[in-house]
Amino acid sequence: MNTIQHIIGGKPITGNSTRFGDVFNPATGVVEKKVVLGTQDDLEAAVAAAKKVFPSWAETPPLTRARILFRARDLIEQRMDDLAAIITAEHGKILSDAKGEVTRGLEVVEFATGVPELLKGEYTEQVARGIDAWTMRQPIGIAAGITPFNFPVMVPLWMAPMALATGNCFILKPSERDPSASVLLAEILQEAGLPDGVFQVVHGDKDMVNAILKHPDIAAVSFVGSTPIAQHVYATGTAHGKRVQALGGAKNHALVMPDCDLEKTVDALIGAAYGSAGERCMAISVAVAVGPVADTLVAELAKKVKAITIGNGTHDTSEMGPLVTAQHLARVKGLVDAGVSQGAKLVVDGRNVTVKDHEKGFFIGGSLFDNVTPEMDIYREEIFGPVLCVMRAPDFDTALKLINGSPFGNGTAIFTRDGDTARTFTHNVTAGMVGVNVPIPVPMAFHSFGGWKDSLFGDHHMHGPEGVRFFTRMKAVTQRWPAGIRSGAEFVMPTHG
Ligand code: NAD
Repeated sequence: MNTIQHIIGGKPITGNSTRFGDVFNPATGVVEKKVVLGTQDDLEAAVAAAKKVFPSWAETPPLTRARILFRARDLIEQRMDDLAAIITAEHGKILSDAKGEVTRGLEVVEFATGVPELLKGEYTEQVARGIDAWTMRQPIGIAAGITPFNFPVMVPLWMAPMALATGNCFILKPSERDPSASVLLAEILQEAGLPDGVFQVVHGDKDMVNAILKHPDIAAVSFVGSTPIAQHVYATGTAHGKRVQALGGAKNHALVMPDCDLEKTVDALIGAAYGSAGERCMAISVAVAVGPVADTLVAELAKKVKAITIGNGTHDTSEMGPLVTAQHLARVKGLVDAGVSQGAKLVVDGRNVTVKDHEKGFFIGGSLFDNVTPEMDIYREEIFGPVLCVMRAPDFDTALKLINGSPFGNGTAIFTRDGDTARTFTHNVTAGMVGVNVPIPVPMAFHSFGGWKDSLFGDHHMHGPEGVRFFTRMKAVTQRWPAGIRSGAEFVMPTHG
């Protein structure tokens, strides 16, 4: 059976680990590959390779670094089908969705090719007589990325292009559930001309994560995953002196006003709640229906949820693939059970779906709940499956208060035709990414991606201008030319006079 290896110093390496993880094809339920679960020694080898190459990479002119990324950009586009096929084979999402994921990652590579412009500092002439001052941004050193299963290409590409363009070495620890895409990314970057050791992949589970968080030579950690792990990563990484950005889980609400375009809103909610089987951090998992719109909304949603075609992500007709693992499937089914026992109305039940010739695949159909209330598990937990909860609110203020009461604050959206209501919503809602008649408001690469509250720990969002700041340290230079305008020691605080 194929074993997925680390990429250390430009070479595939298994190391001496005795632990391996199963990598399933979720559509068939069959273990297709094994992934090595690395050790401290493997991390040490990657850090040593990074330390060796870091000085020359950091000294490489940004334009040269950008040109390598230009080549990587073209190669990713050429290998789009291969990357998408790997995503579908290990994650399960449908191929067209996998291609969309690669495209969104590619856009960060494109943004990062602008690094000569992005690294321009600020300059002030004559801060005092004969003295000029400027700022520059320099790489932080060796950075690590720890990524979740749900976007095995896009999330690594939120981080790596920014880290590399700004002159850092980057060690990626991808999800052990779908690790192959990161190996192909390493091959692509190598083919594009990236020196060995600048981008490396180490595989593993929590042991590898904890080794990264404590390693004294890793300066920064960029994490994306569930909230409890994000909290752990942030607390441990910062306690070990690292700069950390840790993006966590989500419970994204859509606020549906009675004046919305109902047909378009229903379509938007169906795509946002059930696309990628709900395994998206920006999936809409709660629809808050205001006033009289609720009954029609639920009826229209129900018709469309029942019509979703479920199947292998490689089949053209499939609209929704399987969940990632049997454990995750059991968890999602368990939460639907809890919704029923806690009194929510299960309008569409997706629990008993089977797919012909894929009886062992991790499939579940779309479920739709009505009359969900805040104390229910289906509301409090991030389900991360194809389950949409409808809640009913008498007015806009009650709906907004409900949304702002959630501990999560990743994304949210409002559906309305009224500009005043939309403006009040965008101004007051406590979430990091907001859509107005846009169900999944994922910022483009040249903006930054990140949530509020328990959806992000740290100070920086991903990619865009925030990505440049995260992966660089600022230095401010104050310089006197000609030297020696003043003479003699001065014991007062320097002022411009
Ligand atoms: P996860 O938290 O289980 O795993 C993420 C990473 O952490 C993986 O690399 C994994 O190996 C590692 N990990 C898992 N358990 C660990 C532990 N006990 N100690 C140390 N490391 C550990 O997340 P997942 O199931 O792979 O991904 C789904 C989650 O990611 C969802 O909660 C989703 O909302 C979130 N997510 C968030 C965003 C965002 O932008 N906020 C984006 C994508 C996914």
